[in-house]
Amino acid sequence: MRRWPTRLAEVASGSPVVPAARSCIGVFPINQLDAARLRQGLTKLEEGEPERTARLRQRAREAVSRLAHDFPGDPITGLLDEGEEAEQRFADFANDEPCPALDPETGLCELYEARPMTCRVFGPPVRSEGGLGVCELCFQGASDKEIAACEMNADPEDLESALVEELEKASGARGQTIVAFCLAS
Ligand code: SF4
Repeated sequence: MRRWPTRLAEVASGSPVVPAARSCIGVFPINQLDAARLRQGLTKLEEGEPERTARLRQRAREAVSRLAHDFPGDPITGLLDEGEEAEQRFADFANDEPCPALDPETGLCELYEARPMTCRVFGPPVRSEGGLGVCELCFQGASDKEIAACEMNADPEDLESALVEELEKASGARGQTIVAFCLAS
């Protein structure tokens, strides 16, 4: 059983419209569908709030500058390496880095409607290649058995895989990246 650290401890404000994010810290992989959605969200934000968008882009560029040197992938394309050794390097990589979509003044996610799938399903136990991931804050004191009983499958028909494949074929960009590289490019 794998318990997520507070790298993505996201707390809804109580309103489905005005969400608040607390401690969206630490990088995590996103697929090309997540990346496309985030870029669309950024374009939409730019139409209404260019200055806010410029600050977000600047945070992303600064994050890339900080992260490029030790990035476990290609620091030019922002694509992560694949394989066990790369995954190991990624596990120790940038765990204290705030997400550039997080407004440091308000603590809100500026791209909430366009946020990656990882952000959308964070909280309940969700299975991935690394095992069952769960928010430690939500399940404090729960046993592994109790946590396993709450497992959620957000995409039981695996619809996302087909969409990712389709998008990768159309765009030519294959593989995973991180939010900072996606928004800085
Ligand atoms: S995209 Fe938004 S919800 Fe996801 S980690 Fe970044 S700030 Fe948090």
